[in-house]
Amino acid sequence: MKKEFVVIGLGRFGGSICKELAEQGMEVMAIDVDEDRVNEFASIATHAVIADTTDETVLKNLGIRNFDHVIVAIGADIQASILTTLMLKEIGVKNVTVKAQNDYHAKVLDKIGADHVVHPERDMGKRIAHHIVSNNVLDYIELSDEYSIVEIAVNERITGNSIVDLNIRAKYGINIVAIKRGNSMIISPQAYDVIEKNDILIVIGADSDINRFEKKLS
Ligand code: ADP
Repeated sequence: MKKEFVVIGLGRFGGSICKELAEQGMEVMAIDVDEDRVNEFASIATHAVIADTTDETVLKNLGIRNFDHVIVAIGADIQASILTTLMLKEIGVKNVTVKAQNDYHAKVLDKIGADHVVHPERDMGKRIAHHIVSNNVLDYIELSDEYSIVEIAVNERITGNSIVDLNIRAKYGINIVAIKRGNSMIISPQAYDVIEKNDILIVIGADSDINRFEKKLS
C-alpha cells in the first residue's frame, strides 16, 4: 500500500525530502506559504498547495489528519514551526517529524509531542567533522551522545588479518557489524573472515572506543 506524506515548508530540506519521497513512488502533499515554491513542486508532488499551516482551519480543510506522516520543514520561522507542530498533534496526526533550528527549538518540539525531531545541519556538521579529522572515517551516524555507527576505510595496518587476529572486540570494545567489499556486503562477519584491501568496515560502539580504533589505522 502506498504511504501518504505531507511536507510543510519547501526550502532546501523540505524540498529535498519531497523530491525523494516522490521518486520512491510515495503520495506527497507539498505545502508552502510561498507561491513560487509551491509552483516549483507542482509537477513533483501529488498535490502542491499554497497555505499557511499556522491556521488550524487550513490544516483541517486539507484533511491532514488522514495522512500517515507529516514532515514540518519550516526553516527560520521557529514560531510557525512550533505552532504548526502543536496543531498537527492536537488534530491527531500520528507521526510528525520536525526539523529543529537549534537545541532550544528541539526541546520545545519534544515537549509539545513531536514524534521525531531532526537537526540536519548539526548532524551533517558532525559527520563532516569526523570525516575531516580522520581520513579513514567515511561516514558516521550518531546513535546517542556516547554511541555511534561508523564506516571506516581499512589500510595496510590491518588488511590480511582476520577479525579474530585483530581481536577488535576485546581490545577496543567495538563490534564490526558488516564489511562492504566492492558491491557486496558481508553482514555480521565471522571471526575468521579476513580483511581485504579496499574493504570498508561498519563498526558500532562507544565513541571513545571507536576513536582508539581509528588511531590504530592512522
Ligand atoms: P531551508 O533551510 O530548509 O531551506 P527555509 O527557511 O528556506 O528552510 O524554508 C522554509 C520554508 O517554509 C519556506 O519556503 C517558507 O516559505 C515555508 N514556510 C514558512 N512559514 C510557513 C508557514 N506558516 N506555512 C507554510 N510554509 C511556511
